[in-house]
Amino acid sequence: ATMSVAAILAESATRFPDSVAVVVGPQQTTYRDLWREAREYAGALKARGIGPGDPVAVLIPNVADFPRVYYAVLALGGIVVPIHALLKSEEIEYVLRDSGAKLIVCAAPLLGEGAKGAALAAVELVSVLIPDDKVDALPFTRLEDEARQATAIETYEPRHPFDTATILYTSGTTGRPKGAEGCHLALVEQVNVLLLSTFDLRPEDRVLGCLPLFHTFGQTCAMNATFRAGATIVMVPRFDGDTALGVMIEQQCTIFMGVPTMYIGLLDAASRNVERPPLRYAVSGGAAIPVAMIDKFREAFGADIFEGYGLTETSPVATFNHVGRVPRPGTVGQALWGVEIGIGNPELQESVELLPTGELGEVLIRGHNLMKGYLNRPEETAKAIVDGWFRTGDLGTLDDDGYLTIVDRTKDMILRNGYNVYPREVEEVLARHPDVANSAVFGISHETHGQEIMAAVMLRPGAQTSGQDLIDFTMEHIASYKYPRHIQIVEALPLGPSGKVLKRELVAQYG
Ligand code: ATP
Repeated sequence: ATMSVAAILAESATRFPDSVAVVVGPQQTTYRDLWREAREYAGALKARGIGPGDPVAVLIPNVADFPRVYYAVLALGGIVVPIHALLKSEEIEYVLRDSGAKLIVCAAPLLGEGAKGAALAAVELVSVLIPDDKVDALPFTRLEDEARQATAIETYEPRHPFDTATILYTSGTTGRPKGAEGCHLALVEQVNVLLLSTFDLRPEDRVLGCLPLFHTFGQTCAMNATFRAGATIVMVPRFDGDTALGVMIEQQCTIFMGVPTMYIGLLDAASRNVERPPLRYAVSGGAAIPVAMIDKFREAFGADIFEGYGLTETSPVATFNHVGRVPRPGTVGQALWGVEIGIGNPELQESVELLPTGELGEVLIRGHNLMKGYLNRPEETAKAIVDGWFRTGDLGTLDDDGYLTIVDRTKDMILRNGYNVYPREVEEVLARHPDVANSAVFGISHETHGQEIMAAVMLRPGAQTSGQDLIDFTMEHIASYKYPRHIQIVEALPLGPSGKVLKRELVAQYG
């Protein structure tokens, strides 16, 4: 059998040629044009020697050139290696070397680090988004100029379902980032299942694309699922609440997808603006969203947030509060069609023992959506995938109806005085305080207790609540062994490139 992720765009170009695929600012690109431009870029990449099985690194923000280059590489049968937009040159060098990338396509605004990284790894560079007046000033050519000299390819190269389509780098708990290899089957099946039975995505929908496209959540859910549906993605290169709200109103967006920190910015913006976009629903994932925030969002926008759960290694979606079913806030929903969720004994390393319904254990995932493995890391792959089950490192419980609750990441659990404390539970309580915009709870080392509980809290603009007020508030709502002993009010929490709170940085700062 053959298969290709490139079919997602190619088929929509046939079925919805005149529909708008991508909106960026005032620019609109139809499906017909996007696919033609991707094939033109593919012609240029082919002239540079890129062919089936070749990894190509892509360092491009959320603009139409991201899907153009992504689909150009896939259409040639190549492998896309997206690079996080915030990486420094040495980190870029690492990804280029580790993935064996033959070429990096780098957008002009990111050329500073991108070009240095490429030079360090001795990898060729071609650019996109260079303004005309800068072309002669830089030692790189533009992909669009090369495409004009080359011949566009006709159609996409058929691949084997298990051939690698993307390599996405994830840092995980220890060591250097690992490249999760996603095959064509996993990525195509994921998008088909999302559309058939999980999301409600229609050709007339307009999805706000503020999730970074180099990350699995944005790539699969905001971009590929939207393209598969023939709907429109309205791209926003950099998230901030006011911009996102403004663009959604102006562009009449019907669906919002984001990580929890984005909802904070959006709710804040909504408190200063009475206008609303015609949202049908919203999707949250990537980290736990407090139930209080789901309620606030419904009040402010008149739309439900459907929460899902997954990882880079699972393409990413594993479970979802399926759109159309009654959502159960606080849970991450039920297994995706064809995907199995198990709760395993976290003590066992080399084998899997499934625990009975209701018990707390490590969340295990099995199904079409699993990565092939970590590139060139057979030992780490063997530890991560045991008897076909992917070990997530997350702790959770399943109920009788198959709804999964993520209790926390194993590595984030705090052990205080012999008691397990799950930061997520404390964060849920803090989120209920009217002055709290966001919080992160983590463990710091303590002489006698082993670990002590600390929270970094970001307040709503103008709020005057003190750390002690918040400590008193949490004491009223949770057991004494769980409430945070130290609360630091912060201007902002450290966020990773996909918008998630980086607890390890807080631990390094206060721990
Ligand atoms: P990195 O790239 O630094 O490794 P990461 O570990 O967050 O980042 P991802 O693959 O982006 O890697 O995220 C997967 C993790 O995100 C899961 O293991 C889980 O801990 C968390 N997660 C995802 N969705 C949810 C959710 N709905 N609720 C709670 N946690 C979630």
